[in-house]
Amino acid sequence: MDKELTPLDEDWERALCIVAHPDDMEFGAAAAVARWTGQGKQVTYCMVTSGEAGIDGMHPDQCRTVREAEQVESARIVGVDVVDFLGLPDGVLEYGVPLRRELAAEVRRHRPEIVITGNFTDTWGGQNLNQADHIAVGKAVLDAVRDAGNRWVFADQVSDDGLEPWGGVRAVWAFGSPSGRHAVDITDTFDAGVASLEAHRAYIDGLGWEGFDPREFLEGFARPPGSRMGTTYAAPFQVYPMGWGE
Ligand SMILES: [Zn+2]
Repeated sequence: MDKELTPLDEDWERALCIVAHPDDMEFGAAAAVARWTGQGKQVTYCMVTSGEAGIDGMHPDQCRTVREAEQVESARIVGVDVVDFLGLPDGVLEYGVPLRRELAAEVRRHRPEIVITGNFTDTWGGQNLNQADHIAVGKAVLDAVRDAGNRWVFADQVSDDGLEPWGGVRAVWAFGSPSGRHAVDITDTFDAGVASLEAHRAYIDGLGWEGFDPREFLEGFARPPGSRMGTTYAAPFQVYPMGWGE
């Protein structure tokens, strides 16, 4: 844990963030997004599900609407104007070709240089288990980025849907990964990240975590990587380069 973290490359203009659920970005990467949109970069969110199975006391039909609205607001707070909802079923996502197809189309539509997703390893470090949807999405993101560049993979998207192949993604970055070796200074945008998480009010209330304080929670994650980077706060990322020889 005492190893230094390498600053992330910030020489890019467009990023696409693909995560399983509303709130995923806000638990690990919203302050970093606020930094990047503040630099004039374009960041787009893609929610694979609408998190409709995320509140025990609320039926999915109602929950979907509530959570989509909260996500749009939390994105707005960090400078993200476009939030796509793919509408796949919350809680039961499967890694495989159908998911890769959906994500490849997203990559072809938005043509990002960087694709961001959440930690998709088995744990958050230690014994805290990751969740099945996060693992399915992260694995599919890595594949879909390569699928998107090959015109003969999901070729109907090119021949029938008006999409062009896009091979311009330089790297996939996973936030919250326990083995991340890179990070970004989020000291100046930390408050925006907190406000972005607070926008998930119904979800946070539904968790029933007594005394949950978004600021305190995010500080607990941002301070240790910050001290490894020599900043007050930082957000760590695992970098998966898409080229060879890096
Ligand atoms: Zn999630």
